[in-house]
Amino acid sequence: MTSPILLSRFDALLFDLDGVVYVGPDAVPHAAEAIRAARQAGVACGYITNNASRSAQAVADHLVDLGIEATAADVITSPQAAVSVLPDFVPAGSRVLVIGGAGIDDALVAGGYVPVHSRDDGPAAVMQGFSPDLTWRDLAEATFAVRSGLPWIATNPDLTFPAPGGIAPGNGALVRLVAETVGRGPDAVAGKPEPPLLRAAIARLESERPLIVGDRLDTDIAAGARIGIPSLLVLTGVSSLGELLGAPRGERPDHVGPDLRILAEEYPEVVATSQGVSCRRSWAGIVDGDLRVELGGDPWDGVRAACAAAWSAADAGDAVRVEGAHRILEKAVG
Ligand SMILES: [Mg+2]
Repeated sequence: MTSPILLSRFDALLFDLDGVVYVGPDAVPHAAEAIRAARQAGVACGYITNNASRSAQAVADHLVDLGIEATAADVITSPQAAVSVLPDFVPAGSRVLVIGGAGIDDALVAGGYVPVHSRDDGPAAVMQGFSPDLTWRDLAEATFAVRSGLPWIATNPDLTFPAPGGIAPGNGALVRLVAETVGRGPDAVAGKPEPPLLRAAIARLESERPLIVGDRLDTDIAAGARIGIPSLLVLTGVSSLGELLGAPRGERPDHVGPDLRILAEEYPEVVATSQGVSCRRSWAGIVDGDLRVELGGDPWDGVRAACAAAWSAADAGDAVRVEGAHRILEKAVG
């Protein structure tokens, strides 16, 4: 008896991009092939990005360069998600002060709003997103506008992002700067882990059974949990095996795999009993406060069992030492 492959349980896959599909300019190994296979199997593929400095078209062009068929319509950006929440604050057609890059202007125009760049143009709301060209004057303009009482929407909350010279301040850091100055945070944040970006993607793909696929527990997986949809964590990006074993409630993926090839594999059941947790031929449990694993077959089954055992002990309030199991698993899957 064969069970169906993982992707067949879903009608749409929502891919985070950096660390899942590409890292900087380069493809993540096996990603393009896995996405092509999913599309061939008739599963819709959408690409979601908190990055507010690139347009949907630029992202689609990048995907095509990597061998993934995509158009701008397949890409959902945080400025687009930010525009999707504007009706909660101001009527369609309103002027919106843009603090950020051209991607925000484009998303506003597409959504039926009027982007403006000065308070003199009478904006009804402020939208803040990342641009490397933002200056003190722009941030001051945002500050004055927010303090005057305008609703303030941030495209994404990322404090940092990897830049050629190292880890650089992201939009979240600049939003915090304004927040510190005005004494309050934004009225809405669109990007992960907040819900609007995922909701916009699900609406765009008209999906009833979506899967969010990401590399970060605190953004991708948390966003899925926030809106109650299943998630897959791949270990090709930011979050590590150690972080996965220690993931707090609300940041725990439903599925785990080394990379996107897992989408085309049978995904095993994880079964908890009073004796511990089994996953196919692997077992994990807590013995004298230590997480123990016994590996059999695919070592990722050991990871799946170990996560379930560690998480359930943490939820019961038990202190668990995971270091020994972590070393064994790291060696087995590395
Ligand atoms: Mg990522």
